[in-house]
Parts: sequence; C-alpha cells; structure tokens
Amino acid sequence: MSSSSETALLARVPDQLFIGGQWVDSTSGRSIDVRDPATGLVLKTIADASVADARRAMDVAAETQASWAATAPRVRGEILRGAFDLLQERLEDFALLMTLEMGKPLAEARGEVGYGGEFLRWFSEEAVRIHGRYGTSPEGTGRMIVTQVPVGPSYLITPWNFPLAMATRKIAPALAAGCTAIIKPAALTPLTTLYFAKLLQDAGLPDGVLGVLTTSTSGEITTPILADPRLRKLSFTGSTPVGVSLLKEAANNVLRTSMELGGNAPFLVFEDADLDKAVDGAMLAKFRNIGEACTAANRFIVHESIADEFAKRVTERVKAFTIGRGTEDGVTIGPLINEAAVAKATSLVADAVKRGATLLVGGSAVEGDGTFFQPTVVSGVQPGSDILREEIFGPVLSIIPFTDEADAVAKANDTEYGLVGYVYTKDLARGQRLIESLQTGMMGLNVGVVSNAAAPFGGVKQSGLGREGGSEGINEYLSTKYTLTPNPFN
Ligand code: NAP
Repeated sequence: MSSSSETALLARVPDQLFIGGQWVDSTSGRSIDVRDPATGLVLKTIADASVADARRAMDVAAETQASWAATAPRVRGEILRGAFDLLQERLEDFALLMTLEMGKPLAEARGEVGYGGEFLRWFSEEAVRIHGRYGTSPEGTGRMIVTQVPVGPSYLITPWNFPLAMATRKIAPALAAGCTAIIKPAALTPLTTLYFAKLLQDAGLPDGVLGVLTTSTSGEITTPILADPRLRKLSFTGSTPVGVSLLKEAANNVLRTSMELGGNAPFLVFEDADLDKAVDGAMLAKFRNIGEACTAANRFIVHESIADEFAKRVTERVKAFTIGRGTEDGVTIGPLINEAAVAKATSLVADAVKRGATLLVGGSAVEGDGTFFQPTVVSGVQPGSDILREEIFGPVLSIIPFTDEADAVAKANDTEYGLVGYVYTKDLARGQRLIESLQTGMMGLNVGVVSNAAAPFGGVKQSGLGREGGSEGINEYLSTKYTLTPNPFN
C-alpha cells in the first residue's frame, strides 16, 4: 500500500468528536496527535474532549435512551447487520488504519476486521432473541411476568491493542439491547473508533444513540460521566489497576459493570502433547498482535522431559520472524505501542536473565526509528522472576519446566490473574481435569486462540467481571424486571 493511499485514508477519518449524531469541535481548545509507532510520525491530529464535551455527550445519551429502547429490536438488529455489511466493504480501510495507528502487521489487522465484524453480525441476531417468561406463582394466586429491559445509557472504555474488536464487542451488544452509549477509545489509537462511528452513521444509526469522546484526559472526563445518575452501565477493557479504580468510582452510583482486565496466561505442554501442534499453538498464543493481547500466553510451563526440545523449536520459529512496519509485505512482527512498552519488555527480560534464565534469542530493543523490540525466547525462568508475575505485553516467550501435573497446575494458578489458560495434551481425562483445575475464565485445549464472537469472553480473579460475546454478552446490557399480577380467573 503506497503512502498516497495512506494519506487518502487518513483524510477520510473524522477528526472531531461525535455527539448527537454531529461531528463537533471540542470545547477544550486542545488536540491530540496520533502517531504511527513504526515511525514516530504524526498520522493525524484530532479533537481532545473536555469535561464540558463529556457532559454534553452524557445529556444526549440520556435524552436518546427512551426512543432507542422503543425502537423495534428487528430495526436495531438490521442497523447492526447493515454495519457488518459496510465493514466488509471497508475491510481494507479498517485494516490499514489499525496497522497505521497500532502497528500490527496488515494480515493480522485484516484478521481483526473479521473478528471485530463478527460481533456486529452476532448481536444483530441476538437483538431479536431477548427473552422473558410468564408463569403461575406456586400458590396459584398470581401470574409472574419476567422481562429483560435495557439497562440504560452505557459508558464504554476501550484499550489500544485491538482498536476495532474491543469497540464492536461493546457497542454491538449495547445497541442490540436498546442502550445508548458513549465510547472513549484509548488516546493512542482513537482513529479506528472515529472511522467506525462514521460507518455506523452510514448504516443508519439514529442521531444520539452513540457518542465518541477522544481525549488526552481520560480520568478527568470519566469522573463526571460516572458520577451522573443517568448513567447506568460501565464497560471497561484495560489494565487491572485502572479497572480497580474505575470500579470504586462506579460503586458510588451502583453501576452495572463489565470489566475485562489484564491476564497472565499459562500455556501448559505435557510430555504426551503433539509437539508440532503445541509449537504452532505457542506461536499464535504468544506472538499474535506482537504479544500485545490480554490473552497472550505469558508463561510456557513445559514438562521437564521436553522443555529443551520445545525451546529449540520455538527459537527456530522466532528466528524466522520479520520485523518491520506492518504495512510492508512479509512483516510478522510490528512495533510495540510506545517507548514505555519497550522499556518494560527490556526490563522483564533483564530481570529473568539476572535471576538465572537463559536468553535463547532476542532480548533487546531494535535500534532506529519506531518502538520495535526483538522477538525473544528465555528458558529456565526461575521462581520469583518479574516475568512470571507481570503481564509482558510484548513478543517475549518465557519457559518454565514442571515435574508432574500437580506441579504444573500449582505453577499455572500462581498468579492473581485468571483470564485464559492453554493446555496441550493427548490425554482426554487429563484435559478434563485441567478444565476444572485451572483458575481461569477461558481455556484452550490443544488450541492457541480461543476468541470467538459466539463465545463468552472474560476472566476470573483480577482478570475481571462479566462476559462479552456469546449469548451471555447481551445480558450485560439488560436488567431483569419482574411483575406480579393477580390470577385473572379469581
Ligand atoms: P489502560 O491503561 O488500563 O487503558 C485502557 C483504557 O482506559 C484506555 O482507553 C485508557 O485511555 C483508559 N484509561 C486510563 N486511565 C483512565 C482513567 N483514570 N479513567 C478512565 N479511563 C482511563 O490499558 P491499556 O494499556 O490501554 O491496555 C492494555 C491492558 O488492557 C492490558 O492489561 C490488557 O490485558 C488489557 N486488555 C484486556 C482485555 C480483556 O478482554 N480482558 C482485552 C484487551 C486488553 P488513555 O490511555 O487514553 O488514558
């Protein structure tokens, strides 16, 4: 893709806030420079929302709630389905935009358009399947009616690592359920969300149903929104510390919350595993999205009898990676999102090596423009190393040997996180035992990627609350309402 097509695409992306169905300037007088992490250059300068803008977006979401909730589910669903169709037409635009602002290789960005789009299609189908029930009270004197009603105006906060999919995973169920919403993307990657809001407008979304606030002052604009009694729901995807502080704020108004937080996924390889498949799965689970995924395998816990062979094979595969700007043909590893991410990967590897791990490949930042880090493998990682405790969020594969199943489970569960676990074994009974013993919300049994719009995505422990996707996903935006009426025959 030539730079002239990049320029043309960037010119099509809105640079204002989206409030009340209008593209409007911010009242802050400030702007945000959005940069390409592969070059450090500014891609586009966009509006930086103020507290006043946030209040206006909240007013609109509250004013539009009743009419959107009263819009027929079929109509809500068809708008989402129309958005899915438009997204297929604009696939290349969205893929390139994500590569430009986030850094992932273009092929992976196309994959995200596919994955992100599925939430639109899935929830367009769920909009007409919001069920209730009607029954007789046990004593026979009444009739019990149970319905599901939209929870109300919702505030959606998304991270930078999956700019489209994290937005559609929240917007689609909120809108399908009949909730209005305000979305606040990360300041590092706001362009995809702005461009997606334009797509929803083109798909016929009524004015005011969705607002977009891009801001460099997330905390400042979020506090008044969360304090507004008209807001009824917070859905957040991001780091555990920010999630914990938002949960505290949300508690003041007893908001419904969905929190998709950090991970520290174990990837267990047993001695009976198909090693070729385990290595394939490991490459996906670790290096997809440059390792910047909450579901990224963080700790490879491998049986001691095969740990050296596993390390040798993944090292060969890592040496074959091509680092570069994601727009270039053949690139498999793009830049990390910023300097802080490079510094973190550097220090985690240095700490592991200092404590006795062996560095097999990579281990340092790449000199020159952009924020690149070499894909890395470290083996023999020792207990107490930071890399076992912290989310790496980069292309670093760390290997720890285990002795038996009990040791593997103990090591896997030795973390405050519990998002996803991966297990490779041919022993079905062992696989079933591990489904029950691993303290995670999701598990991949002989697969390296679990995400699917039709599946309930989410964690336990400090990885979060609630589920996104699946038939569970829409429930996060619905409230159960119960009504009792007298027996009509009495
Ligand atoms: P982050 O720093 O927590 O930021 C996430 C979002 O919260 C961004 O939009 C950020 O905006 C905003 N934010 C930060 N401080 C805020 C505040 N005080 N008030 C309101 N909003 C605030 O996380 P990140 O670095 O962007 O994303 C990486 C993290 O997300 C990792 O821990 C990863 O595991 C997690 N994640 C989890 C899932 C999941 O489904 N469980 C999926 C993807 C990512 P600004 O950055 O613009 O301030």
